[in-house]
Amino acid sequence: MEQQHESGDEFQTYMLVVAHPDDSEFGAGGTVARLTEEGKRVVIIQVTSGNKGSADRNANPDQVAATREAELREAARRLEVTEVVFLRCMDGEVMPNLDLRERVVRMIRTHRPDVIITHDPFRPYALHPDHRAVGLATTDAVYPTARDPLYFPHHLAEGLEPHRTAEIWYFGADQPDKFIDITETFTRKIDALRAHVSQIGDAEGLEERMRERAEELAKDQPFDLAEAFKVVQMRR
Ligand SMILES: [Zn+2]
Repeated sequence: MEQQHESGDEFQTYMLVVAHPDDSEFGAGGTVARLTEEGKRVVIIQVTSGNKGSADRNANPDQVAATREAELREAARRLEVTEVVFLRCMDGEVMPNLDLRERVVRMIRTHRPDVIITHDPFRPYALHPDHRAVGLATTDAVYPTARDPLYFPHHLAEGLEPHRTAEIWYFGADQPDKFIDITETFTRKIDALRAHVSQIGDAEGLEERMRERAEELAKDQPFDLAEAFKVVQMRR
């Protein structure tokens, strides 16, 4: 029985909101490759540029950020994502406050996604504060803030309209309920990850580790390799 594992349902526009360059590729690189192959629009909102992401104590954070932005642009190019936005929040200091919520709402009202893909902020014992903060601020931006016109009315005055996002897909979830077949795009995920040279370089065993993880996520699926998400439906 040949099954078509469409990744994208009826949706056309997907927006990732992630903390650091390379979070998109680790969490959803194979899915993003599928989406762009299917002709879907994918936008990446990069909350920090990872300017603390160096083990060298003499590194210049601005230079680290510039390097990592270039690496992300290359990764996006490899995944055929043409729209990347950098919010340039301070790495390691992201807070799920109204300021970040407003900036994410602005992105939602600008790019008008059907689906938002982000960190799962509700996973117990998830350690990186930026991941929790981005997941939480994004969740709170989707509902009710971006949807209802009395929130951040200056957006409307600028010509941005309220927007209703249909679904949030959380990667890194404890209890995923959506499994995307990335068997065909797995090598593209690895290729995109390898664009993050300053972080990954030619790390030993990267492909093997990622393959084991993808196999584990696909263990109950009728295909070999998966990325997994917890889906929250917003449209009522
Ligand atoms: Zn991260």
